[in-house]
Amino acid sequence: MPIHMEKNPNSYSPEISGISLSRENLQPGKVWLVGAGPGDPELLTLKAARLIASADAIVYDHLVGEGIVALARPDARLIYAGKQSSRHTLPQPEINELLLALARENLSVVRLKGGDPFIFGRGGEELEALAAAGVPFEVTPGVTAASGCAAYAGFPLTHRDHAQMLTFVTGHRKRDGFDLDWKALAHSCQTLVFYMGVGAAEEIARQLTAHGLSADTAVAVVRHGTLPTQTALFSTLSEFPAQLRAANIEPPALIVVGSVVRLHERLQWFS
Ligand code: SAH
Repeated sequence: MPIHMEKNPNSYSPEISGISLSRENLQPGKVWLVGAGPGDPELLTLKAARLIASADAIVYDHLVGEGIVALARPDARLIYAGKQSSRHTLPQPEINELLLALARENLSVVRLKGGDPFIFGRGGEELEALAAAGVPFEVTPGVTAASGCAAYAGFPLTHRDHAQMLTFVTGHRKRDGFDLDWKALAHSCQTLVFYMGVGAAEEIARQLTAHGLSADTAVAVVRHGTLPTQTALFSTLSEFPAQLRAANIEPPALIVVGSVVRLHERLQWFS
């Protein structure tokens, strides 16, 4: 659902789907690390929406939807700190410095991140910098991409008949390659969710099959999960890398491996 904002900034009152958000005077010189969820603005928590609508300054990443940033006060300072693997807009130390500088200007600062700030979001690193400098902070969790993509692509992440374990994995390689325990990952009774895995699809398929996972294990690749532009590719471990390339699927996309994925055939509801 779109977010509506009144045009007259003097009686500013942002709304999400008819629920109006009251502005609050936030403590100056403090930072709120806030999860923006996977994309659909209605998946924001009430707390996230209230903080976004109230802050003096908002520092946001590329995965945060425009509809969400539009909740900010008309006079709020909006700073794009975008981050995309291999295309970093601001290096991490500069983002840390920026948060410190804004807090020292006595502004209330919302640091807005896609999904949940503590899941592959470097939220911990940013808080460490704030803690070291004695800047007060709070954390607001968000709906992580795994939850959003599974819900909107129509399969559960765990199921008593399919998966008793759920593992979130980063597919982002360090310069010297992966440092993953592939043997532990190649278990049929679990669901694997690879964040940032599109560039590593071939290696994920190769390693998991080499370590014993069946080549016909179900795989879903969900791009732009929870947004009207969502696409989902349903395939198998051996075939998904070629299909993903053929379909030109680019990040941000999530790769989910495990038999729970097949339940989408009966449970799909979002189109
Ligand atoms: N903190 C975020 C993850 C950041 S890592 C969270 O909790 O969701 C960035 C990766 O998340 C992307 O490369 C992609 O793999 C995944 N991602 C984030 N939003 C997504 C979306 N709407 N659809 C599919 N994948 C998404």
